[in-house]
Amino acid sequence: MSNIDIKKVVVPQEVLDLIPGSVARRLNILPLTGDEDNLLIASTETDNYAALDQLENLTARTVEVVEVKDSDALEKAVRRYYPADLTGNTADNANLVFDRIVNRALQLRASDIHIVPLKHGGIVRMRIDGQMRSDLDLEEGLLAELTSVIKIAAELDIAERRTPLDGNINMDLFGEQISLRVATIPTIHGEHITLRLLTQDDSEALEKLAKLGMDDQHYQLLRQSLEEPNGIILLSGPTGSGKTTTLYASLRYLRESGKRHLVSIEDPVEKPVHGVTQIKVDSESERVTFNKALRSVLRHDPDVIMVGEIRDGETGDIAVKSALTGHLVLSTLHTNSASGVITRLLNLDIAPFMVASTLRLAIAQRLVRTPCTHCIEFRQPAADECREFGWDENDKNLKVATVKGCSFCGNTGYSGRLGLYEMIPVDRNVRKMIIRGSDEHDFADYAFNKLKLPSLKEDGAMKILAGKTTVEEVRAITSTST
Ligand SMILES: [Zn+2]
Repeated sequence: MSNIDIKKVVVPQEVLDLIPGSVARRLNILPLTGDEDNLLIASTETDNYAALDQLENLTARTVEVVEVKDSDALEKAVRRYYPADLTGNTADNANLVFDRIVNRALQLRASDIHIVPLKHGGIVRMRIDGQMRSDLDLEEGLLAELTSVIKIAAELDIAERRTPLDGNINMDLFGEQISLRVATIPTIHGEHITLRLLTQDDSEALEKLAKLGMDDQHYQLLRQSLEEPNGIILLSGPTGSGKTTTLYASLRYLRESGKRHLVSIEDPVEKPVHGVTQIKVDSESERVTFNKALRSVLRHDPDVIMVGEIRDGETGDIAVKSALTGHLVLSTLHTNSASGVITRLLNLDIAPFMVASTLRLAIAQRLVRTPCTHCIEFRQPAADECREFGWDENDKNLKVATVKGCSFCGNTGYSGRLGLYEMIPVDRNVRKMIIRGSDEHDFADYAFNKLKLPSLKEDGAMKILAGKTTVEEVRAITSTST
């Protein structure tokens, strides 16, 4: 482990616990990884034997040192992991614990933090690369204080515990600006708090269309459809499949040309996008529903309209009519496959010729995790895997990733996520098929066998061989989708 980037290191809690915060801060050292007998630490000095002796006595382990040249960066990392000792009165404690939880979520690249009340006390859970994991136990007193600290920071009424509330927190954490979206919901054991991390720069970079990890054919198809002056582009996939990310990336792509007026109708507005007029739907009160918003938006001369979701025939109908009157409409539908998008639209009682003449592109997508580049290993695929993914069993050059886990990925073996896609472009043949009343199977057969576009599973198979994801990840999403 030479040449480590101290800013990117993720240290497991059990390793942190080996060294008290006061010692780590005084010596400016950060433990990185360890087992029963050994401990690896980061330090600016490799030959401070007095300090090493002290640490060996303290931890009863053989201590080895990785040299870090940037003393400031190391100090910052130490301060992040060991903000201050958690002693003193409970209110102070809760503030520190909150900082520490947010810190840790950032280190682990978590998307959400959940403060979950239990019968006695509570627990902090985090969603990392789409998966939930438990992180910290909270005793009763601390849970109550922590809940108040968060609600005060989000400017919520701390006395109101019986209705769901939402708000925002903007905080400065060691010079970094962090935005959190806060939502509370009453449960039988108390208030459950969900904090979504909105880190600005990361998401901007991730949401560039070219960086979503699309296969080149798919990328070109989507770009061509976005360049069209009118029509509908529809995305499908279960919740958490990255549809919103693709929609935002499409809006950003369109924004770059600067020539079109972009309007979005969302429920809720996930994050502000510069250059887009965003309208929030209030589906609960029925005051601003998708179709009401869509109707009024049309009077404001938009060129491109993003509608969060087409849930009913009425919204579908307005979307189709908007496309017919010269607008480009981007939206999502709840189905599992690209061919399902076409049939779902028809099932909303929209006339086949209307669907045929407006729909440009049907997309299905999923998210899979990418292996951690620090601990990834490769092996040859097994015979059954070759059969399953359509690989040549005799090709000895094929390699697939095995995940292991290390201190950079919080021992999960994964770091980051990637989209898998399938697309059906609505060309002359597909238009004819729609009008003829072809079924889902026919559309899929045409796209994947005639046009030779990759299906979700084929896209996954290619990305496994490219080392971008694993057999296990692709299996997990394709076994539930077909
Ligand atoms: Zn790793």
